[in-house]
Amino acid sequence: MRHAIGLARLCPKSTTAFAVGAVIVGADGVELADGFSRETDPKVHAEEAALNKLGDEPSTRDALAHATIYSTLEPCSQRGSADRVPCTDRILAAGIRRVVIAWREPATFVTNCVGVEKLREHGIEVIELADMADEAMSMNRHLDLN
Ligand SMILES: [Zn+2]
Repeated sequence: MRHAIGLARLCPKSTTAFAVGAVIVGADGVELADGFSRETDPKVHAEEAALNKLGDEPSTRDALAHATIYSTLEPCSQRGSADRVPCTDRILAAGIRRVVIAWREPATFVTNCVGVEKLREHGIEVIELADMADEAMSMNRHLDLN
């Protein structure tokens, strides 16, 4: 999560989206990929940027089935851009079974994010590191976080 928070600090500043970092770690503790908001294009999300770096070879699918994705923010369950898949759906499609987040998405841009609920409904283990929430949202203080 420390690495993910460091990545969140690298995000190009935006007044219309959060700065988020994400790291995918394999069962052996080795990092598979990482990403941050707006890393590769103005709309890309952190989890999406990380997943986009991985192929869909059988070995990668197998590694993802035992991987954990650390994201500073709850994965989105709907997106402003209709042409982009919500990160919750990307995580489910990738076969990742464990998600660790630091803070839940507030109603700043989306009225009711249900990323955590949706992941849990699909049997994904979701762990919230509430004691790291302040640090993980520190680079988003310019946004309305209520
Ligand atoms: Zn997202």
